[in-house]
Amino acid sequence: MPKRISLLFTIVFSFNLIHAIPSPQWGATGHRTIGEIALKHLNKRTNKEIEKILQGESLAFVSTYGDQIKSDNRYKKFDIWHYVNFPFDSKYENSTKDPKGDIIVGINSCIRVLKNNNSTEGDKNFYLKFLVHLIGDLHQPLHVGRSEDRGGNDIKVKWFYKNSNLHRVWDSDMIESWNMSYTELASNSKKLSKQQIDTIKQGDILDWTYESQKLAQEIYNSTKDGDKLSYRYSYDNFSTVRSQIQKAGIRLAKVLNEIYS
Ligand SMILES: [Zn+2]
Repeated sequence: MPKRISLLFTIVFSFNLIHAIPSPQWGATGHRTIGEIALKHLNKRTNKEIEKILQGESLAFVSTYGDQIKSDNRYKKFDIWHYVNFPFDSKYENSTKDPKGDIIVGINSCIRVLKNNNSTEGDKNFYLKFLVHLIGDLHQPLHVGRSEDRGGNDIKVKWFYKNSNLHRVWDSDMIESWNMSYTELASNSKKLSKQQIDTIKQGDILDWTYESQKLAQEIYNSTKDGDKLSYRYSYDNFSTVRSQIQKAGIRLAKVLNEIYS
């Protein structure tokens, strides 16, 4: 290869590599734990349908698909499905919507395709994987954060002396620092009574959105740009992360059971 072309190739290739690094997300471990927890709350019929659609891949395995396709330009239009921003003092219903969509539009679109008997096997596979991911994202409070700081992405903080940002701390830093696998996290979920599980299942996508937004408000109130976060932050907040993950798992199962009932 001539030198100049080879250099160009190197530059283009490196640029693509940089872009392939996933943007901040409810890290892989969080998403997988949600898939694993949901599995325990599926009814038989739903389980059978899902196994057929996912062709052997587990809910945990497919839970990160929504973020993986961010590396593929063909799926650019779905990037906006991972979050929603609307003023904390207003209701989603009354707020100005982004015409390109948001996480609520995304979740409802997935449900619609999965409920439609005429959907192709390929579409069922794609939208089921996306739904698993989006129910997870909805429970990361900063996916329902403020638009002006891009859900905390622009609030720069240190996490154990390393550069991070508030969104990333809640997506992955706290979970990764805990250093447990998704199966370990799932099997160490809080033991809940049937009544507690029923309470978690109550409500709908919008109710769960408001719940996340309320948590986001508390997170913003207790953290500011430049904060140095470490053990104490985890001590104060990891129980919220675990509880959101557990709720997401139980509610994902509820949504799936309703689709296939
Ligand atoms: Zn996402």
